[in-house]
Amino acid sequence: MRPEILFPLFAPVSALPGVGPKLAEALERLAGAKVIDLLWHLPSGVIDRRVTHNIAAARAGRVATLLVRVGRHQPPLTPRQPYRVFCGDDSGSLVLVFFHARGDYLSRVLPLGSERLVSGTVDLFADSLQMTHPDVIVDPRQSDSLEPFEPVYPLTAGLNPRTLAKLIASALQRAPDLAEWHDAALKTQRGWPAWREAVLEAHHPADAAAVLPEAPARMRLAYDELLANQLALALIRAHGRRGSGRVIESEGRLARKALAALGFRLTGSQERAIAEIAADMAAPRRMLRLLQGDVGSGKTVVALVAMLNAAECGFQAAMMAPTEVLARQHHATIAPIAEAAGVPVALLTGRDKGQARAEILAGLASGALPLVVGTHALFQEGVAFKDLAFAVIDEQHRFGVHQRLELSAKGQVTDVLVMTATPIPRTLMLTAYGDMEASSLTEKPPGRRPVDTRAVPAERFDEVIAALRRRLADGAKAFWVCPLVEDSAQSDLAAAETRFAELRAIFGPAVGLMHGRMKGEDKDRVMQAFASGPVRLLVATTVIEVGVDVPDAKVMVIEHAERFGLAQLHQLRGRVGRGDKPSACILLYSPPLSANARARLAIMRESEDGFRIAEEDLRLRGAGEVLGTRQSGMPTFRLADLTLHRDLLDVARDDVRLILAADPALESERGRALRTLLYLFERDLAVKYLRSG
Ligand code: ADP
Ligand code: MG
Repeated sequence: MRPEILFPLFAPVSALPGVGPKLAEALERLAGAKVIDLLWHLPSGVIDRRVTHNIAAARAGRVATLLVRVGRHQPPLTPRQPYRVFCGDDSGSLVLVFFHARGDYLSRVLPLGSERLVSGTVDLFADSLQMTHPDVIVDPRQSDSLEPFEPVYPLTAGLNPRTLAKLIASALQRAPDLAEWHDAALKTQRGWPAWREAVLEAHHPADAAAVLPEAPARMRLAYDELLANQLALALIRAHGRRGSGRVIESEGRLARKALAALGFRLTGSQERAIAEIAADMAAPRRMLRLLQGDVGSGKTVVALVAMLNAAECGFQAAMMAPTEVLARQHHATIAPIAEAAGVPVALLTGRDKGQARAEILAGLASGALPLVVGTHALFQEGVAFKDLAFAVIDEQHRFGVHQRLELSAKGQVTDVLVMTATPIPRTLMLTAYGDMEASSLTEKPPGRRPVDTRAVPAERFDEVIAALRRRLADGAKAFWVCPLVEDSAQSDLAAAETRFAELRAIFGPAVGLMHGRMKGEDKDRVMQAFASGPVRLLVATTVIEVGVDVPDAKVMVIEHAERFGLAQLHQLRGRVGRGDKPSACILLYSPPLSANARARLAIMRESEDGFRIAEEDLRLRGAGEVLGTRQSGMPTFRLADLTLHRDLLDVARDDVRLILAADPALESERGRALRTLLYLFERDLAVKYLRSG
């Protein structure tokens, strides 16, 4: 349970004075629904409101803060004229200009003959210096209320900067003093303030440099966030690995038999990955390892070898795929190979019902079925294994990080291998998985040809159709991918259906359609018809992104390619490029392209190296968005910017190692403060694992 001291920060924003439903909605859109989200909403700049020497020193086009004597008021003669107030000091004169002003109000705040501090942008108008609608007008005796550097916050429609600043100020009043969780030496060395001080400093910048990412308060808050991330991952992992794992040490007899039945030899990186996984499984602690490799790098065989090794030792092994289509495809690939070694492979998805399902469940419970492939249905209630020792999760970024780590925490002593198709830059790997072991497939199997990749503007649609016609006549098959339209499955579908109807009118019944809203059986039927039936051109929404393998597919058309992220484009392109005939990828785009979209398309034309593409993706988009945060469950950071605070991540990882070595249950004084840190960043799950020890 969240400590009481944090309650005020986790109250809804509507708990702040003056926040009604409409304002709450705007705040939620901008920062979040809770008070703490306002604390995390840091200024992006400052306005220098230090008092300017005198009127003569003020520069047109700049903000000036001037101490002036108020002179004559000149109300407008017609409604279109402004209200003018003439002011001055020893060096010159300044006209304050107000449109649609109320004279009584202005006489009150700018009484004739008084001294006032006014601040705002100064302009030169017909040789006289003027300030239109000053941001600030105060009595110099109350100049305390004027911050020398006013924070400027990112805004959203329906929210005025003054209101936001006021609300952030009242959120700041709720910030408690928290016991220090950082190592004293690190804090001193870096010159970091305490937590509450850091939050206050970040929102009350002492100068222009105070809003830069390297300012001590900003650094400290970024480090807090990264430390919470690394600590949470380490705790969840430690929980998952708790208790000794089983020793799964096979001689590789079954694997050798199965591999002999394959029509190809393993690549060097496949061999290396297999050896790393085998060593990990043979060790007495639990395995949690990532197998990363580009699309088509041959991860499936690697996983199968490990599964067979488990079976050889008398254990069961399971492979979980993110979609029904993929589960079936994996099964179709794996089963014949495993059967060559005399090992049957079962298939279990949410769609299997009745007698067939009952038989599979019985086989899994008795151990008669050593290997199984399925969807998440595999890990639902009612599915019992006799002795599941090894699980492969082919996640392709579809499962959230917590989900996948929880899964590994669920089984008793199951070794887990997570397969991912998009190479993950080291930085992201660390934030998504913590300090996790990884095997990488860096070479591609022989026989993959470079894909001829072109970016084509949408107005050259007819040329694309003509080229497609030639390739189809030549015996090739093709994918046509329609993008997600503004995140709505509805319009997404409509776009794909329209395109499908058009292409069918051109190419006839050889055109098929597959989208995410179709029932599983229907998807399979279409996939089947594309892989080995009459369908030669498959129109699809991005459901095909995940791992579908059709070796005859030689053309990939991606519509509105400018809307896709690099990783996604790369994944999609990976569907073509096998076999002896050349493949092509056509990136259809609608001009004008943003600079960023242009860069993405250029990188796609230049490179097919997934690791390079992943790094470029990180550079172009910033860490939070790479891989599509929402789908991937990749953590997003509010305070840390991985491109700017990269070194802090390594510090946090090392820090966590030391912390957990010294105080694995977080029971020391610092340990208790660290628990608060976890709650502060809503890593409650990690604390739960700590308790349930
Ligand atoms: P992914 O890593 O994308 O899951 P797959 O495991 O589906 O890749 O492999 C892609 C294709 O390459 C499959 O058809 C597979 O049979 C083939 N393949 C895998 N390893 C090799 C190899 N060493 N030599 C030749 N073909 C291979
Ligand atoms: Mg795969």
